[in-house]
Amino acid sequence: MNRPDLLIFNSKGIYCPKAQVYLDPWKPVKNAIITHGHSDHARAGHKNYLTHHSNIPIIKHRLGAINVQGVNWNESFQINGVTFSLHPAGHILGSSQVRVEYKGEVWVFTGDYKDEDDGVAVPYYPVKCHTMITECTFGLPTFKWKPQSKVFGEINQWWENNKKEGKTSVLFGYSLGKAQRILKHLDSSIGKIYTHGAIENMTEVIRPQLDLPETQLVTRDTTGKELLGNMVVAPPSAHGSPWMRKFVPFETGTCSGWMAFRGARARRSTDKGFVLSDHCDWKGLLQSIKASETERVICTHGYTDIFSKYLREVGYEASVENTGYEGENEDSVNSDPSEN
Ligand SMILES: [Zn+2]
Ligand SMILES: [Zn+2]
Repeated sequence: MNRPDLLIFNSKGIYCPKAQVYLDPWKPVKNAIITHGHSDHARAGHKNYLTHHSNIPIIKHRLGAINVQGVNWNESFQINGVTFSLHPAGHILGSSQVRVEYKGEVWVFTGDYKDEDDGVAVPYYPVKCHTMITECTFGLPTFKWKPQSKVFGEINQWWENNKKEGKTSVLFGYSLGKAQRILKHLDSSIGKIYTHGAIENMTEVIRPQLDLPETQLVTRDTTGKELLGNMVVAPPSAHGSPWMRKFVPFETGTCSGWMAFRGARARRSTDKGFVLSDHCDWKGLLQSIKASETERVICTHGYTDIFSKYLREVGYEASVENTGYEGENEDSVNSDPSEN
């Protein structure tokens, strides 16, 4: 039986014609369901927003006074006979997959997601569907993440070594998501944790929902001497800025999935690269797709051509749609859209 598509891609976003609702639209629309607070997914200018409760303070912090309604995980709601529900995506705090069902036909839009429990976001679980719209930011076999306990072991060891050498550690990660994940897993018995303003502001917004260690904002009055041996967490955009001058002597580290590429580290001349991503790696994507029991996959952003080609080879009906999502930038070492 040939059913009409439950979700279509038009110039404004992922659209459900039956319910007249958009998912993460990239142009202003009347009704938008938002998966998470990153700037390429939660954009300004929509009339009505609907998202998971956890995202509301984040989105309001970024977009100001908006008309927004919150829902819980797994809470079904109907629009024009179409049933919607949000399910954890494990990408950052509040990040959601959107499940859409009409007359027994089920579609899932993953938004951005990762299958590892990071101790901050509610863990991802696969949602069964007939068609899955997935990101594939790191959809190349070369991307293979280590368990985060290992990565944070390396990070805390690095901090300890820098302290022994009488240096300040400066760790870069984007201000929404990565920074709070870093804060959560730093070993605060090593020293104090300082933050850049962009990270302090976002963390204050999120702090009521998470158990995070104490942080201190680096201010005009903070001296290089008091920072020695301690940790400064900063957004990638602060790298090489005059703001860092007073931290000398320091060592820099960057946390990003892109650190798996050797060139990325060289480009930013970071002393140390830690491979830490808030997206699935190659295996994580494939396992998630398999667990969803979907027959059809639509790839939205990342290595879409290579990834969808592989999916077709292993028997899926797979295609690519152009969207306004910037998976490559979002986790990139060169930009931090959460500050835009
Ligand atoms: Zn994201
Ligand atoms: Zn994204």
